[in-house]
Parts: sequence; C-alpha cells; structure tokens
Amino acid sequence: MFDALSDRLSGIFESIRGKGRLTDADIDATAREIRLALLEADVALPVVKTFINEVKERCKGAEVSKALNPAQQIIKIVNEELIAILGGETRRLNYAKQAPTVIMLAGLQGAGKTTLAGKLAKWLKGDDHSPLLVAADLQRPNAVGQLQVLGERAGVAVYAPEAGSGVGDPVQVATDSIEEARRKGHDVVIVDTAGRLGIDEEMMQQARDIRAAVNPDEVLFVIDAMIGQDAVNTAEAFRDGVGITGVVLSKLDGDARGGAALSVRHVTGQPIMFASTGEKLEDFDVFHPDRMASRILG
Ligand code: GDP
Repeated sequence: MFDALSDRLSGIFESIRGKGRLTDADIDATAREIRLALLEADVALPVVKTFINEVKERCKGAEVSKALNPAQQIIKIVNEELIAILGGETRRLNYAKQAPTVIMLAGLQGAGKTTLAGKLAKWLKGDDHSPLLVAADLQRPNAVGQLQVLGERAGVAVYAPEAGSGVGDPVQVATDSIEEARRKGHDVVIVDTAGRLGIDEEMMQQARDIRAAVNPDEVLFVIDAMIGQDAVNTAEAFRDGVGITGVVLSKLDGDARGGAALSVRHVTGQPIMFASTGEKLEDFDVFHPDRMASRILG
C-alpha cells in the first residue's frame, strides 16, 4: 500500500532539494506535482483540493521563505498536513459509563467485519476486558460458524443463535446478547452484522434496527482499503444510512494505491480508529495518523 505514492512524493522532494530559495512559481509547480500524485493514488478530489490548498498556503508563508533549507520545510508541512487529513490524534474507544460497552460493526460483505470482530475481541481481551462476540450476521451462510471459530481462537465467548434454529432474527439476537453479557459479566459486546455485496435498503434498515435495539457506544464502519474510490462512497452511504462513530481500515497489507485510507476521514468526518493488516488475529492495531504519514513519506 502507498508504494507508488511514496515513490512519487520522494521524487518531487528530490527535485527541490538542492534549491536555496523557492519562488512562488517553484511552490506552485511542486503543489501541482503533489496534486497529481494524490489523484493517481485514488485520493478523492475534495480531499486533494483541501490538502493542496493548505500545503500551498503554508508553503508561501514565512516558515518556508525564511528557511535555510526550504525543501526540508516543505516535507515537514506535507507530513503535518497528511497527519491532519488522517485525523490528527489517535481516537480511542468510547467505553460506556455502565457496562457493557456495545460496539456494533457495519460494512459491506467481504469488507473484513467478521475477521475484525475476532481481532478486536482478542485485542480487548489482552487489555483486560472480557468481550462477548455476537453473531448477528445471519445473512452470509457461514458467518456464524466463522465467528465461532474466531472466538475459539481468540479465547473469547461467542453468542449465536442456536444451531439448527433456522435463520433467526438478527435484531433479537443482538438484543438478547446484551442480557447475556450482563448475566455472564462481559464488559464489552461486539456485534457483527450482515453486509451485502452492494448497498441496499434492506441491509441499511436491518443495521438501523440493530442500532436502535442495542444503542451502541460505537458503530464502527469496516472499509476494505483495496476497493479505492468506491470505498469512500460506501462510507458516506453508511454514515448517512446507519450513522457511524468511527472507521476501521481493513486489508492495509494489500497493494492498493491507498486513496481510500487517505480520503475516508475527511469524507465521513469520522475518525479512523483501527487498522487491519492481514488474515491472522494479530494483524491488527490502533490507528496512528502520524505513523501512517511517516510510512507514506518513507
Ligand atoms: P465480512 O463479510 O465483512 O465479515 O468479511 P470477512 O471477515 O469474512 O473477510 C473477508 C475476507 O477478507 C476473508 O477471506 C478474510 O480472511 C479476508 N481479510 C479480512 N481482513 C483482512 C486483512 O486485513 N488483510 C487481508 N489480506 N485479508 C483480510
């Protein structure tokens, strides 16, 4: 991820490195190059515009014109603006004042929700919580079984409809799981919900119904970073259709150009909270905007 963008940016910085003073024309040319690099990396246009305007304005200000090494100063500004576009600070989970904290996961089928549920549960367990995984994705044929396997691997309890009980009602399963958590002393409930291959009203309604039933402290939208520009449209649809409080980037280990990762915070107005980087339960971490920016700048 980001390889092409990193290469492009280091080429751009290399071309101004030897220069003593930078004229406004030099800065405009550099900004144009950065703009192209971002567009080629599939970053959404409104994000590119905001980013470039900020960078240009700051580069024409005193910090660059007075600097002994203007190229260094521009790299510093680009780094800071990348951090800003990725959300600035790391946003931590919101825990309920009174347990259990309820975390609902939403997203398209295949985005990596169920895998993420297992990863988040394992991570919470390592942080001295006692999570309960809830299988409220009754749409995808093997989602319940997959969550049970992940729960077993993570050493975390799973609440699922009785085997053989038919399709069941996901809203009921989610509602009952809160009671189950109280009974068994779990302090965090992670509700995995059904996705579809594309946005559809029935899925949105179901997600809204589950949300209304369990009143979650967090609704995390899981986004497949591999699907580029489309991912961002999907994020907007979930923000408007269900309401989300945070984003999880999945499949950051892939070789996509990275545009979705760079756009989603700005487009949805919601923070990126976690990053998923592989199929194993350990391939998961809290999202740090500054580390991601450093990775992009190489
Ligand atoms: P769901 O339909 O949203 O619940 O998606 P799944 O959790 O079933 O994930 C879909 C596929 O993506 C599975 O084959 C997962 O193993 C894979 N997957 C999930 N997260 C990641 C990730 O971070 N990196 C990679 N490479 N694969 C992932």
